[in-house]
Amino acid sequence: MNLILFGPPGAGKGTQAALIVDKYKLAHLSTGDLLRHEMSSSTELGNEITEIINSGKLVPNHHVLKMIKIFIENNKKSNGFLFDGFPRNQDQANLLDKLLANLDLKITSVILLEVDKESLRERILSRSQKEGRADDNEETLIKRLEVYFSETEPVIAHYSNKGLVKSIDGVGEINDINQRINSILDLV
Ligand code: ATP
Ligand code: MG
Repeated sequence: MNLILFGPPGAGKGTQAALIVDKYKLAHLSTGDLLRHEMSSSTELGNEITEIINSGKLVPNHHVLKMIKIFIENNKKSNGFLFDGFPRNQDQANLLDKLLANLDLKITSVILLEVDKESLRERILSRSQKEGRADDNEETLIKRLEVYFSETEPVIAHYSNKGLVKSIDGVGEINDINQRINSILDLV
């Protein structure tokens, strides 16, 4: 099973991803987590992308694509993949198709977590108290939402044309949302 978890910033992708990979034993690829790791380790890449991430823009494709290639290569023997926060634009989606095809793999389902803007704002502001991410603030959230609706949301059509997209109500208790996801994945 190879899944993509889609949804706006603060939709709870990271939270649900952790529960899904645990249940279905998938390799979890969060580009956001990998990029934040680069920043906290102050690598050359990390230093280069800090300003971009903190302003809410997308990191240039070539950086992300390199990380994805390595991750897929290193995990090709796994039970399947969960892509969280990737692909975020059409070029990334095309590359993912190619990399998976090379291994004779396909995306099985795309889970779209739907959350209204006011809930996203509340979650991001409460997360900023707990985790202190520099991109979790009102101003950056506006930019992140703008990027989501202009670059990422259109990519959903790439998968809905193939009948792969399952929309999930992403508002409510973490465990209830997880049940909604599981009830769909158990049918796949
Ligand atoms: P959630 O809160 O639902 O887990 P998020 O959208 O708040 O998700 P991340 O997915 O961790 O957070 O992304 C944080 C930032 O990292 C993005 O705003 C962007 O700058 C960068 N980023 C993450 N993934 C990509 C990607 N695939 N391509 C380019 N930039 C990315
Ligand atoms: Mg995340």
